[in-house]
Amino acid sequence: MSILIKEVFLNKEIVDVYIENGVFKKIGKSLNVEADQVISGKDRAIIPSFFNVHTHAAMTLLRGYADDMDLHTWLNNHIWPFERKLTPDDVYIGTKLACLEMIKTGTTFFCDMYWHVEAIAQAVDEMGIRAAISSAYVDFEDPKKGEYFQKKNREFFYSPPKVSSRVMFIMGPHAIYTVSKASLEWIRDFAQDMGLFVNIHVAETKKEMEDCKKIRGTTPVKYLDDIGFLNERCILAHVIWVDEEEIEILKNRNVKIAHVPTSNMKLASGSFKFDEFINKGLIVGIGTDGCASNNNLDMLEEMKIAALRAKMASNSPTSGKSDDIFRCATKNGATIFGIDAGEIKEGKVADCVLIDLNHPQMVPCHNLISNLVYAANGDVVTTTICNGKILMHNRYVEGEEEIIKTAKKQVKSILDRL
Ligand SMILES: [Zn+2]
Repeated sequence: MSILIKEVFLNKEIVDVYIENGVFKKIGKSLNVEADQVISGKDRAIIPSFFNVHTHAAMTLLRGYADDMDLHTWLNNHIWPFERKLTPDDVYIGTKLACLEMIKTGTTFFCDMYWHVEAIAQAVDEMGIRAAISSAYVDFEDPKKGEYFQKKNREFFYSPPKVSSRVMFIMGPHAIYTVSKASLEWIRDFAQDMGLFVNIHVAETKKEMEDCKKIRGTTPVKYLDDIGFLNERCILAHVIWVDEEEIEILKNRNVKIAHVPTSNMKLASGSFKFDEFINKGLIVGIGTDGCASNNNLDMLEEMKIAALRAKMASNSPTSGKSDDIFRCATKNGATIFGIDAGEIKEGKVADCVLIDLNHPQMVPCHNLISNLVYAANGDVVTTTICNGKILMHNRYVEGEEEIIKTAKKQVKSILDRL
């Protein structure tokens, strides 16, 4: 399987890009090579595709269902009652809708935490993108529930579903206020033994921090560090309520950070200290979070919001520079999950997108990255390629009409069950 992209804009030059067996095999001027598929790169720029490092994909089904309330009311009174009704079929359809939206906006990887992981994996497999999928682990301090989740996780990881290697399975303790200490310790050991990534929400709200201080006598980050939970395989989402000393701890443990600026703003959770994390050298990726707290999965919009949020947080217009933000949304995401992508270079994994340089948001193009971060949204993406396979070309994804139709029908059926 090979693709030749003719005369595409890359780093201020017009080049040909030849992709073979999922990697960039050759990049140069006027390549003399034959390919299974040849596409024109005229008036297009090639850039790495986006890595959405934190979301709950099937929550596309809850887009616009509950807005404008605090996190705990939102979760307890609206989101969780809706989610309790979701079947594997609902999650499969919600995830396909999410994948469609991601492909249409140039994203080829997402890190997920949800229920019915087999259904998520099947959707990802069919849609052709990549994902790191975790099953939400929530025991609410109930030892019986803890045992149940441990048994489920053992069974699952000892014989995971057989799907494409584009799908990796990781662990997903929801948060320190929904998972007991005993369970967190079990996850710590199990993930260590199995070499698994762990995806968890940490220090998201002031309430979480204050409750943690009351119950555990310390802050969320220090609590996790005290129990030896933090290491290079941990991806922490939010991480708002932390001080300098805690950022130092996170750096020393080499944890990875999933920054979800829209969700943090929408739920008024607080302000992520972008500069402090970047300056300390922590690897920060960008995520959209789920569609109930965003309410879309467009990483181009998320980059702009991340950049603006960084400036607000530090009260300085030089914070959240477009090059840094772009790297967080692409290469850093790939690095966090050990995928050799995020750059258009020979030998790298061929996950990339083409950008329409004739789209009004891209004209003029004094600076490509500036346009992508500050001016554009996902509509500027014309072609999406993952693992050397074209998933969208000229803004069309095969089967998209059916996905939209099925999703609408499925949401009606969920509402009937509520
Ligand atoms: Zn989340």
